Amino acid sequence: MGIVIAAPLILRARRAILPRPIPSEAAPPDMSAAPLSVAIVGAGPAGFYAADAFLRRGTNCRIDVIDRLPTPFGLVRAGVAPDHQSTKNVTRAFDRTLQRPEVRFVGNVELGETVSGAELAELYDAVVLTFGAQTPRTLGIPGEDREGVCDAAGFVNWYNAVPGAPDLSRRVAVEAAVVVGNGNVALDIARLLAKTPDELADGDIDPAAAAAIGAAPLRDVYVVGRRGPLEASFTAPELSEFGRLAAAAPVVSPADLPEDAAPAAESAGKRRNLRILQDYAAASAAAEDRPARVRFLFRASPAEVLGEGGGGRMTGARLERNRVVGGRAVGTGETFAIAAGLLVSAIGYRAADGIAGIPVDRRGTVANVDGRVRPGLYVAGWARRGPTGVIGTNRNDARGVVDRVLADGLAPGKPGRDGLDALLRARGARPVDYAGWRRIDAAETAAARGLPGARPRVKMTRVADMLAAAEA
Ligand code: NAP
Repeated sequence: MGIVIAAPLILRARRAILPRPIPSEAAPPDMSAAPLSVAIVGAGPAGFYAADAFLRRGTNCRIDVIDRLPTPFGLVRAGVAPDHQSTKNVTRAFDRTLQRPEVRFVGNVELGETVSGAELAELYDAVVLTFGAQTPRTLGIPGEDREGVCDAAGFVNWYNAVPGAPDLSRRVAVEAAVVVGNGNVALDIARLLAKTPDELADGDIDPAAAAAIGAAPLRDVYVVGRRGPLEASFTAPELSEFGRLAAAAPVVSPADLPEDAAPAAESAGKRRNLRILQDYAAASAAAEDRPARVRFLFRASPAEVLGEGGGGRMTGARLERNRVVGGRAVGTGETFAIAAGLLVSAIGYRAADGIAGIPVDRRGTVANVDGRVRPGLYVAGWARRGPTGVIGTNRNDARGVVDRVLADGLAPGKPGRDGLDALLRARGARPVDYAGWRRIDAAETAAARGLPGARPRVKMTRVADMLAAAEA
């Protein structure tokens, strides 16, 4: 039945996104020579921009874009907030890259599990790591292991239906939540927590997460920044969304804001943030009458997660007030408590630790010099420079790294994709190719038909279901 519905969808989708040629910026490659075999590990933005860069440079190559999940697009699918659908349009360009004859998608193959780094190095002339940074940083405070505390990676994976994400449905059934961090990830989490069921119906949020958030008795979401509004790393478009929520309203204390914002802010972006926060502060008294509030607290750090007994469920957080000295948050010793049943720390990520043969440095990125780990092994994107910038930032990053690969003058000749296929067969692995992904895509899209709101898809949450759809 699923195939009968899915097949016309695949055909229609294919027609809509016929591959457009990627303009080459170099002379046509010498196709009589052996192609360079390239493995790109991580089918997210950096991976696609790296593949695109090889093609734009006119490289005679065969590229395998490998991902641990059966689905491509990495952070665009798994990280970008489900209510930011327009940001996800970039996948159309990534899809065109996947349809190039030189490029192959190899999903459900995990570096360090299905295949080792040493094996990839044996098989491919060049290996480019683009697996991002998904290991959450921890607060390192007493009580962080209490029930009710989770990190941004788990929370974002939950609402974005990433296989293996924790089920947080019961955790969000609280009246007050604390989100630690002043970046855009913290704002994504706070905004989604503050949305009504109707607001959550648009987008591709996991339906179970939407139902749990919609049913939660949440009245207060605290967004806690350890430094001041001038130092916050969130950006104005994301901050301004809190002024347009259906039920919740933002609350900012005027005392937290500089009296004259314009000279204090070092950039236009910071000035925009301050103007928005000033508007929120001016309207804060009225916000107290709304069904829910998002309360921005600045210059405060969590000092302890409070709770029942030893290691029991959390009941609140003790925060320490800070001063900002020389751009750094310095504790004053003065503390205060907030009652809350949920604390999400959104304080940044490290690259994956502990993959044999992949060195990670102190900053939590893959150790590299200008993208080169060693000749033949390279890294781009968040795994190279840390979790900063927007999706497009990875384009220049990846192009620079690909130039570095090409400058190394690697000699083609390794087995490449034939060797990988033989190894995967011998291991009984179940790789998912582009056609398999499109079957998953069609099934997810079909599952959204008839549901309320502008829902583009219902994502599968289990790898087994994805494989069943891919292999149907
Ligand atoms: P981020 O922008 O680096 O923010 C991390 C936040 O955590 C900062 O406010 C940081 O404060 C704080 N922090 C770090 N350690 C802390 C600690 N021990 N205690 C308290 N606070 C601590 O990172 P992110 O929010 O994870 O976002 C990652 C990247 O993705 C960013 O470039 C972001 O813009 C991007 N992104 C973009 C969007 C979008 O465009 N809509 C959405 C999501 C993510 P300090 O500044 O004091 O270090």
